[in-house]
Formats: sequence, C-alpha cells, structure tokens
Amino acid sequence: MEIVSSISRMQELSALARRDGRIIGFVPTMGYLHEGHLSLMRIARKKCDVLVVSIFVNPTQFGAGEDLAQYPRNIERDKKLCREEGVDVIFLPDEREMYPENYSTYVEVSGNITNVLCGYFRPGHFRGVATVVAKLLNIVQPHFAVFGQKDGQQLAVIRRMVRDLNYPVEIVGAPTVREPDGLAMSSRNEYLTPKERKVAPKIYESLMLAEKMIQSGIFDPEIVKDRMRRVIEEAKMFRIQYVEIVDAETLEPVKKIESPVMVAVAAFLGKARLIDNIVVNPR
Ligand code: AMP
Repeated sequence: MEIVSSISRMQELSALARRDGRIIGFVPTMGYLHEGHLSLMRIARKKCDVLVVSIFVNPTQFGAGEDLAQYPRNIERDKKLCREEGVDVIFLPDEREMYPENYSTYVEVSGNITNVLCGYFRPGHFRGVATVVAKLLNIVQPHFAVFGQKDGQQLAVIRRMVRDLNYPVEIVGAPTVREPDGLAMSSRNEYLTPKERKVAPKIYESLMLAEKMIQSGIFDPEIVKDRMRRVIEEAKMFRIQYVEIVDAETLEPVKKIESPVMVAVAAFLGKARLIDNIVVNPR
C-alpha cells in the first residue's frame, strides 16, 4: 500500500495504471473510518485493479461555527484498516496541497438539488463538496467512484455534477451500513454521550415507520412526516432540522407519493448533527 500526499505523484500513478489498462476504483472519505467506509471499499475492491482511498477533511465543506476543528481523526488506525481491506493507494493530501495560496475556483451545482435539505441548513456545504470531489476526480482519474446512500443528497449532487460536467467516471451508490440498533454509522456518532447514543436510533425508527406507512398506502407526505416527527420528539432530546419527503432523484418536493422518494431526517442530538435517509418506492 502506498501513501501519497502529492497531487502530481497521485496523477502519475493513475496515468501509469491507466496506460497498463488497469481499472481504478475510488472511495473518497474524510477518514476516521468505520464499517460504512469499509463497505464502500469492499464494493470497489471487487470491481477494480487499483483501489484508491482518499482521506481529507475538506475545509471548504464546513461552515463557520461547524465542527471542522473537532472533526475526529485517527490516521494510524485508518491506515491499518485500509491495509486490511487491500487498498492499493491512500491519497492523503494536506490542506495546502489541495487549496494552495490564491486558490479561487469552485464548483457550484445550482438549483433545488443543493438548496433543500442539508443545503438549506448548511449554506455553501455542497459547493465545498462538489469542488473537492471535482478536484479528486481530476487527481485520481478513477474509472468509478463509490459514495454512500447515507449522504443521499451528496450522492444526488455528485451524480448531477458528473453528468453536467461530463466527467468520464461511473458513480456507484452503496447502501447505508447501520449499527445493530439501526443507527447509521457515522464518524460524528463519536460525539454522542451514552445517554444520547441510547436514543439515537429514534431517527431510524421514524424512517422505518415512514416506509411502513407508505407501503400501506398512505401517500400524503404531510401525514407521514407528522408521524415521523412525533416518533423523534418522543425522546425529547433532539433538535430536528428537517423531516422531508422528496423525489429520490431530483430532490424536488412531492405533494403525493407516487414514485420513488427519499425520506430524509437531520437532527442535532447534543453536539452531533445526525442525518439519515431511506429511499422508498410506493409501488
Ligand atoms: P465521510 O468520511 O463521512 O465523508 O464519508 C465518506 C463516504 O462514506 C461517503 O460516500 C459517505 O456517504 C460514506 N458513508 C459514510 N457513512 C456511511 C454508512 N454508514 N454507510 C455507507 N456509507 C457511508
């Protein structure tokens, strides 16, 4: 396993691999790896010759007052986990390498897709995400890249960017990996106190209720969202940011659930901002 911190070296490795006809698979992460990240690596490993994982806590996707400085990091552990998953290259740039002095180019996916859900509560977040992913795709030059459904809006935004900018890369979506009690795995679960951790699965419980309601023929999103909120608020510990039901692909609001929808929740539980979603097909 090679650890590469320079962009030029990464581009060189990828060019060599491509010249030899080798398939490059890519998993971008912010590190502090857990089973969710490892599942993405396993999906990628099966489909590629060269598996590249990037670890970069991207400052441009954090807003002022968010958790950039506190974001958990454990690079030695991450390296060990990557080695165990058969990763070939870890791309581990520092901030200066990615955003040198006078850096001034940003990628903005505009419209509803970035204005709703997390985009509404974290202005500028998806601009940072799109920018760093655009850069990483140019640096790693993968044939495909794997992203988790856990960050459903991010996946939709990346798909849109790749389509709009004609990136020659396949975007692969991967299912959300959960703790046994349903809590979606996340590096930010680290922030939860034991008491908070206990009630955290309420979010997943609300998503399961939504699925059940839709599948039993309740197609009015307002009725479903109302019941979901009540489940989450039972714990009296969450500060809900949103409970939404949107078109699964465009993230446009729906008045009636008649095609696949993304049911999505964001809520603060203590210091942790938790997000989760499921895609439900009413048919
Ligand atoms: P992050 O390090 O949080 O930026 O996540 C890196 C990648 O891992 C993104 O594509 C995430 O969607 C994905 N990911 C994070 N948590 C999970 C999870 N619990 N299940 C599946 N994928 C995940």
